[in-house]
Amino acid sequence: MAAQELKMFINGEWTGALSGETREILNPANGEVIAVSAEGAEQDANRAVAAAKSAFYEGGWWGTPASERARLLFKAADLLEERKEEFAKLETLNNGKPLREAEFDVNDSIACFRYYAGLATKPHGQTYEVSDPMQAVVIREPIGVCGQIIPWNYPLLMAAWKLAPALAAGNTVVFKPAEITPLSAVKLFGIFEQAGFPSGVVNLVLGAGPSVGQTLAAHDDVDKIAFTGGTATGRKIMLAATGNLKKISLELGGKNPNIVFADADFEAAVEYALFAIFANSGQVCAAGSRLLLEESIYDRFIERLVQRTKAIKVGDGMAEGTEMGPLVSEAHLDKVLSYVEIGKAEGATLLCGGNRLIGGAYEGGYYMEPTIFTDASSDMRIVREEIFGPVLVVQTFKDEEEAVSMANDTIYGLAGAVFTSNGAKAQRVIRKLRAGITWINTYHPTYNEAPWGGYKQSGIGRELGTFGFEEYTEVKQINTNLQVEPIGWYGS
Ligand code: NAD
Repeated sequence: MAAQELKMFINGEWTGALSGETREILNPANGEVIAVSAEGAEQDANRAVAAAKSAFYEGGWWGTPASERARLLFKAADLLEERKEEFAKLETLNNGKPLREAEFDVNDSIACFRYYAGLATKPHGQTYEVSDPMQAVVIREPIGVCGQIIPWNYPLLMAAWKLAPALAAGNTVVFKPAEITPLSAVKLFGIFEQAGFPSGVVNLVLGAGPSVGQTLAAHDDVDKIAFTGGTATGRKIMLAATGNLKKISLELGGKNPNIVFADADFEAAVEYALFAIFANSGQVCAAGSRLLLEESIYDRFIERLVQRTKAIKVGDGMAEGTEMGPLVSEAHLDKVLSYVEIGKAEGATLLCGGNRLIGGAYEGGYYMEPTIFTDASSDMRIVREEIFGPVLVVQTFKDEEEAVSMANDTIYGLAGAVFTSNGAKAQRVIRKLRAGITWINTYHPTYNEAPWGGYKQSGIGRELGTFGFEEYTEVKQINTNLQVEPIGWYGS
């Protein structure tokens, strides 16, 4: 496939970087160049922020009726649906994930635009019964210019999660995808243009985090920064945001526990343990990367888990039957492989996997075997740090109390799951988990209707659902005097 040229979308126009710089975009399945992308920098981000500010105030986007915002978002969803096969292929081409996962992401993205299109016109705000002659109401208003930065693991879905609620709530946006996965975002902005969003309401800046991303996070005319990515980057965003005390929301990393009790449905728990860690090659913030097994089932469970892990079909995401694709980039693959060395050096037992896959169909791509470590103790780096790849670390527990304590022994608090056939025990354990997204006898399902986000160092705020909408609003109280006359507080 010939490399396509990817431009930025600023103030309703497609444009290259002011510097003229570009970046090659690679297919992780074979390392081939699939696109050449504009490489924006500070000055491009500044232009986009100016456009978004002008569209919000002078352009009249603030004040556009909710019904009109809903119409535009529904239109974007319809256009995306018409091209959903194309978008799924783009996502696989650029990110590497198996096509069946990409198809799921595209459908979820369409549903996200529809959910927020619908929510835009639903009742918001409150009224209070206060003493006569006063009337007190609270309304929600857009915040203004929102900077939005996302990672490379769900390029389209993360874009939908950011853009749909921000636009539904009446903000203007400057959006930055991860620099290595801009393909689907560029096409999505083509859809916004076609849907008819006014100039400057939706702006796309392509480029690196330390330049474009940092500019957005620090900019005085950006009223809110919404970020999804690593916890270390999240810290930098938070610091940069202090200049004008902009609103922030952060969706960060995780090291999520998947607790399996002896009374769980055995085959279901094994299958979900695989899905929890190996979906999207483990490049999932909510991945079940720590499997906590009740001691009594350890041997049997591990035997079955390893057997099934070895049978996972790793390959090009475009190929029929592929169950796990490559990692997103060579740099990321190297980072994940370095954790395999760390685990071995720490004394954990490498039960299976651990190697890069090379030669034949793997030539040029960033493939790795699904990997399992056991005999891991809680002080090891492979237990404590987010690896963000297909590396599962298994530990055992004696009883419910120890399971909860091990599960919570982490700086993160994004997600967690429990498998048991005892309903009361499931509820007890889930309620004690310090995490924002939890599952009982399942792993990974997520809904546009329900809030997504983490406790502790996994983030600040929530995306999705009404919670995610509210994060893009300011709250204003309006107190009205219905009997306008002097109150006689002061003497004449
Ligand atoms: P990353 O933090 O390196 O990059 C994420 C984005 O931030 C990219 O667009 C990048 O260009 C930008 N960025 C990098 N440095 C920046 C800076 N100094 N200022 C502003 N922007 C900057 O993360 P990644 O490696 O792309 O993604 C993996 C991480 O994302 C993992 O930690 C994962 O857990 C997290 N993640 C979290 C969620 C969630 O919902 N909680 C979802 C997906 C991914």
